Amino acid sequence: MAKPRLATGHFTGCFGCHMSFLDIDERILELVELVDFDKSPINDKKRFDQPVDIGIVEGGVSNDENAEILRDFRKNCKILIAMGSCAITGGVPALRNTMPLKECLEEAFLNGPTIGEGDGLIPNDPDLPVLLDKVYPCQEFVKIDYILPGCPPSADTLWAALTALLSGEEPSLPYELVKYD
Ligand code: SF4
Repeated sequence: MAKPRLATGHFTGCFGCHMSFLDIDERILELVELVDFDKSPINDKKRFDQPVDIGIVEGGVSNDENAEILRDFRKNCKILIAMGSCAITGGVPALRNTMPLKECLEEAFLNGPTIGEGDGLIPNDPDLPVLLDKVYPCQEFVKIDYILPGCPPSADTLWAALTALLSGEEPSLPYELVKYD
């Protein structure tokens, strides 16, 4: 019988959630027995081969490319999980939401303390993704089925949720896995 398929995606975040996912350590050997990986930065596979059972996404949506890929995840994943604070709330990258995008770009590329007089240039290559006015949580673009909070969620949290779903059960995470004090 074919194994369930798993995909993971990364948008505007720091990759810390994927690093935490890899912290399942030797359980990765168990995982590859349980699932086949499809699109993921873990195997550097860029496109879906076919629809998958579970998709896990990290990071908020800050540009048009993020939004397009997130919609592709929704289209291809029966279950879609938002992993970590950036995917769920915008997280640290959403700090830029406190100022207009123009002001943010000018500070980063024209007026910052490490930029010499007249040396600055706001990137304008047409191949670059177009920045959105704000950094958005994933659920503002697509339906998200489950959230796994944390910055990042622990490897044990990710493992508990994933193995429950692969067993056809609703994830029921104990307090120890979702407390942050
Ligand atoms: S939630 Fe935290 S660890 Fe995950 S991508 Fe965002 S900043 Fe990084």
